[in-house]
Amino acid sequence: DAEMVAEGEQVLRILLDNGYEAYWVGGCVRDALMGRPVNDLDITTSALPEEVISLFERTVPTGMEHGTVTVLRGKFSYEVTTYRVEGAYENHRRPAEVSFVRKLSEDLLRRDFTMNAIARSLRGELVDPYGGAVDIEHGIIRCVGEAKLRFHEDALRMLRCIRFAAVFDYSIAYNTWKGLRRERNGISYIAVERIRTEMEKLMASSHPVKGLALLERSGMMQFARIPFTYHPDHAVISLLDHVPDSETAVRWVILFNACGISGAEAARILKQWTFSNERIQEITSILYIDNEVIHCMNSISNEQMKIKWIQLTIQYGKVAAKRWLFLRNILNMGPTELTLAASCWLKDMTVYSLNELNITGTEVITVAERKSGPWVGDTLKHLLLKVASGDLDNDRTALIEEVKRVISDEKR
Ligand code: ATP
Ligand code: MG
Repeated sequence: DAEMVAEGEQVLRILLDNGYEAYWVGGCVRDALMGRPVNDLDITTSALPEEVISLFERTVPTGMEHGTVTVLRGKFSYEVTTYRVEGAYENHRRPAEVSFVRKLSEDLLRRDFTMNAIARSLRGELVDPYGGAVDIEHGIIRCVGEAKLRFHEDALRMLRCIRFAAVFDYSIAYNTWKGLRRERNGISYIAVERIRTEMEKLMASSHPVKGLALLERSGMMQFARIPFTYHPDHAVISLLDHVPDSETAVRWVILFNACGISGAEAARILKQWTFSNERIQEITSILYIDNEVIHCMNSISNEQMKIKWIQLTIQYGKVAAKRWLFLRNILNMGPTELTLAASCWLKDMTVYSLNELNITGTEVITVAERKSGPWVGDTLKHLLLKVASGDLDNDRTALIEEVKRVISDEKR
């Protein structure tokens, strides 16, 4: 991290030595003032993109038309963006066209919130024309300029505003909130994947309950294509803050639960919302386990439940099974007889997937002296379930014996 800053300082120095202005800007300046870890280091400069490219050995023209060049140094990269103002806004979205300017103050004016409109020089002096540092001190999110106008220009800023409030646990300045309420329907012009990205950040924040409450009070939900039209159970949603922010999949499951949305419905919603297949699986696996367990919980014996649980663990994986335990313990505000038993069953499992069995499909076919077919998979699954539930040793001889037994049973 110190190395990343040091390398970045070299980028600033080279720009300065060549007669240009250059500053740290945006998220990195904000996060450092808050005492939070800094992620990406962004630089703003009076140099034009071509000038930036000519000064550094390794560059990537990331977004030339927006004035952004990525400068690579060592294992780090820095986004260097030319001072710019934005052209006319169309349809409540940021404009494709920008014009470059030579003054820092003009560049800062186009930025969304005062806390994001601070520049810091190499020597550590702040250029902070809109009082961002004071707002950070007071924990306030405030638009640069007139809120209503800024949200009208670019509706995504409204979601960013709420997301930042959830991430930093900040309050929103009165006029900013008023402007947001006025302009809320503009969010319908924003592409669904950008809304999804903001929602993922909101859900991963340290105060997701606050974020969701603000979202609801903003009146933006219906315009944002946020598909929770069901009446959410707020008592369930309030449990979200108890889930560590590393467990975002569990948070989504709690939200779906609070809205009475099943695993299959959630899969459809997340797909429409352009979540990746991997992410959809991660989230819905937990929900599918939950739906299934809750469905049969009161109608089957303990022994049947054990088999069911082991089957579900095999089907959805150990990670999802563990997350389900975590989910239920949170929803029930502590362990229950079932979660205690299930966590023991999980611990006692010695295998979780077919490739951990000490026998292969080909070997099964040889032992059975039969042609390959769907029965091979079924037999392997049967073996896995038996080994996983502790009824059969995972050694070759025992497995072969069991295959023979199953085959002769079938013949009878
Ligand atoms: P994070 O990276 O944590 O989401 P950030 O503030 O760095 O926060 P970026 O999207 O990386 O956000 O943008 C970098 C900077 O660009 C912001 O700090 C802000 O100054 C400016 N910016 C980004 N999006 C907008 C926008 N929609 N309107 C105006 N300025 C913006
Ligand atoms: Mg950033």
